[in-house]
Amino acid sequence: RVRTRFAPSPTGYLHVGGLRTALYNYLYAKKMNGDFIVRIEDTDQARKVEGADKSLMNTLAMTGIVADESFIHGGNFGPYVQSERLGIYQQFCQQLLDQKNAYYCFSTPEELEENRKLQMKQGLQPKYNRKWLPEDMGGSMPESEIRKKMEEGVPYVVRMKVPDYISIMFDDIVRGPVEFDSATVDDQVLMKSDGFPTYHFASVIDDHLMEISHVIRGEEWLSSMPKHLLLYEFFGWEPPKAAHLPLLLNPDRSKLSKRQGDVAVEDFIKKGYSPEAILNFVALLGWNEGEGCEKEVYSLDELEQIFSLERVGKAGAVFNVEKLGWLEKQYIKARPQEKIISVIKPLLQAELEVKSTDMDVERIASDEYLAQVIELMRERVNFDQEMVTFSSYFFFDPDEYDEKAVQKRWMPDTNDVLKEFIGVLDETDNFSADNLEATLKDFAVRKNKKPAFLIHPTRILTSGVGFGPSLYHMLEVFGKETVLRRLRNGVE
Ligand code: GLU
Repeated sequence: RVRTRFAPSPTGYLHVGGLRTALYNYLYAKKMNGDFIVRIEDTDQARKVEGADKSLMNTLAMTGIVADESFIHGGNFGPYVQSERLGIYQQFCQQLLDQKNAYYCFSTPEELEENRKLQMKQGLQPKYNRKWLPEDMGGSMPESEIRKKMEEGVPYVVRMKVPDYISIMFDDIVRGPVEFDSATVDDQVLMKSDGFPTYHFASVIDDHLMEISHVIRGEEWLSSMPKHLLLYEFFGWEPPKAAHLPLLLNPDRSKLSKRQGDVAVEDFIKKGYSPEAILNFVALLGWNEGEGCEKEVYSLDELEQIFSLERVGKAGAVFNVEKLGWLEKQYIKARPQEKIISVIKPLLQAELEVKSTDMDVERIASDEYLAQVIELMRERVNFDQEMVTFSSYFFFDPDEYDEKAVQKRWMPDTNDVLKEFIGVLDETDNFSADNLEATLKDFAVRKNKKPAFLIHPTRILTSGVGFGPSLYHMLEVFGKETVLRRLRNGVE
């Protein structure tokens, strides 16, 4: 059975790279009718942030990624939080000590640092110098010394003993065959002096006990594979299959970093991007449906059907925020009215509490009115919210006019002609876009003017700005009372 896991450390926000990892794990599990597990890896107590685990789960849930098993959803393989599994790790650590695959190390941080500096100076890759490797494991530390330190209660860590000069090979689903020389692998700490396991140790044990079939994670973990594979071997366990996802890059191809912009999913949501666009965007960071496939808009349901690890590429994936913006626009075009209303209505209500309007409040806050605004604006905004913020003229009379637009569009006789036009508009009760268009054009002909002579000033006086949706449709939505009031205020 396919079982995948997303194993975040609760150290703060959810990084877009983390969302991609979660998504690919989720999609692969769904595609294969398997299980998707979320496991909280909180063994680094110093970096742990209170509440980060729950906020992570919330953000995932917003995008539609739901775990089959987790500390919230439960499951048969719990607990799903590593700090609640300390007894398990201790037991397996003891097994490795007994098997002589691991040893106690009493080296102090100062000693380790000194050793590291020395090795760096010699141009070597820093590695533990095995001072505490016992005599009976091929080292030089007598058993009596180790026992003495133990009795004195000196703090220690437990390290794995990496076999010398062997080659560690495996087949990565994304990267193909990968080979490591054990000489480059450090005697990794498995248990820290605070009694907590390290990430490497806990992760291997949990992946085994939780029967994870596929480990799908960022490329930065590829170099950990030899340590993990050795641990599987020590225990006599079969390792899960591995897929390491390509790095995320800035447009200049440097590694994606906070310095060049937002990387937290929460930040993008705050900016107004919708979870579905973010998810769609993230899905395409390293995966495509097929060579030359033009399709770019995918729902989560669709992805669950067509996702495959075989189509995940090796090459770094460029994180291009413009593409996210483009996707958001595609989603706005297709988004159901009710959904947009549920976003913009509270925004409008909040504005109406701090700002008064000359329009009929009940009317402009009604679903019918908002639906009309949405249909006029959905092709023109970058975010749902902009239907209120960017086109406030649907709700508030303009308190100023775009000066440049006025300069460009006003002729000496504009106001006089407009005054007469207001009279004509006052005569008609048919404020449909079609009739408004006919009325304006007809009036222009009579005054021997081009329609544009009236169109632009009318737009500027009723909306405050020189651009926007179709004028006639906009006026229809405003309604007669509002249009006349705004025009009169403008020409006075
Ligand atoms: N806890 C690790 C992280 O924060 C998980 C790495 C893995 O998936 O093995 O990314």
